[in-house]
Amino acid sequence: MVSQILFIAITVAAIALFSFNLKKVIRNIRLGKDVNRSDQPAKRWLTMIKIALGQTKMFFRPVPAVLHLFVYVGFVIINLEVLEIMIDGIFGTHRIFGGLGSVYNFLIGSFELLALSVWVACAIFLIRRNVIKLKRFMARELKGWPKSDANYILITEILLMSAFLLMNAADAKLQAMGAHHYITAGAFPVSQYLGGLLPDTESSLIVIERACWWFHIVGIFAFLNYLPYSKHFHILFAFPNTYFANLEPKGEFTNMQSVTNEVKAMLDPSFTPPEAEAGRFGAKDVNDLSWVNLMNAYTCTECGRCTAVCPANLTGKLLSPRKIMMDTRDRLEEVGKNIDKHGVGFDDGKALIDDYILREEIWACTSCNACTQACPINIDPLAIITEVRRYAVMEESQAPSSISAMLGNIENNGAPWKYSPADRFNWAKQD
Ligand code: SF4
Ligand code: SF4
Repeated sequence: MVSQILFIAITVAAIALFSFNLKKVIRNIRLGKDVNRSDQPAKRWLTMIKIALGQTKMFFRPVPAVLHLFVYVGFVIINLEVLEIMIDGIFGTHRIFGGLGSVYNFLIGSFELLALSVWVACAIFLIRRNVIKLKRFMARELKGWPKSDANYILITEILLMSAFLLMNAADAKLQAMGAHHYITAGAFPVSQYLGGLLPDTESSLIVIERACWWFHIVGIFAFLNYLPYSKHFHILFAFPNTYFANLEPKGEFTNMQSVTNEVKAMLDPSFTPPEAEAGRFGAKDVNDLSWVNLMNAYTCTECGRCTAVCPANLTGKLLSPRKIMMDTRDRLEEVGKNIDKHGVGFDDGKALIDDYILREEIWACTSCNACTQACPINIDPLAIITEVRRYAVMEESQAPSSISAMLGNIENNGAPWKYSPADRFNWAKQD
């Protein structure tokens, strides 16, 4: 009875804490400007199913894709087992679904094989990051917390899978001994080989089985509450992120309606533009970005596939689209903490531009969209870069001299070059 009360208390506390932190994250995302992404629902559902559920974009790199698939499927399927743990924990039963007979044996056997796959995949991921030191994981933006975060997640998953397998190994031995409460249920294709590592006395086995059971479920609750602080948030946000992703062709820029109206009025004197809303051109800080940009930032897995294909990064420029996403999330978290501490509207004197994203970074971007194409969960770093550039040009008139000259030429000559439109065909007159 005591353990049931303790279990219920831990469950309620874990869910309440997660809901509290999730609400804060949603509040932060809502700081962004409104953008309508309710169009084409059928296409949006399809995109979400293909990209988030089907992981189709992961398969551009087949080996990590298969390993990631093990972790992903293992995480989803093994958590079905959590349902049984929850019921057992609340009602004091043991293997409540054991009565399903061969179906139950099949499920537990599959969970064990998946747990082993997850264990192996996480070990390989740890080796790739810490021993082989893959270039993609050695960038400057991954130093410190992001590196530790990735390692903590992988180690936790290994520990959780180990606890699950050890729990089953002890349970199988107790079942074979005919121990009270340990009904005969489940098939143990992996953990049966761990039985030799465990003691043979019933009392010790019960201690090990219970310890692993508690570790497994408390570990899952701890992991749940770690998500809001981690890049692993993508396991939840990948779904809305792909649903609300931009469906327009890549390379199509979002025009500002107020500017479009001004141009229309210039070309057509009979057109009267509606009163322009007061506001900022482009993005100086996170609340000038759209809520989709901000959700992108929380969804980024920091995998670096975008940076690995970025021509600016590949040619030694400072720009890394992964860092753009990480900077946006870091700044948004800071703004959120300021709201918690000082209330809405507090100005800490900082901004996304300069304090996080450097001008050298944004002007290195070629707007090629390789990053958005490569992202396995349809994140759009270019949208943020474009908005920050818009701010620099339209609010501050600050752009590298080559770009300022080009903008001046477009304004004066109708082309990016310094020649008058009247001279445009001079080349054709030469002998
Ligand atoms: S759009 Fe910009 S950030 Fe993205 S890959 Fe191209 S150059 Fe890099
Ligand atoms: S933006 Fe996409 S590709 Fe780039 S690091 Fe984040 S998840 Fe990976």
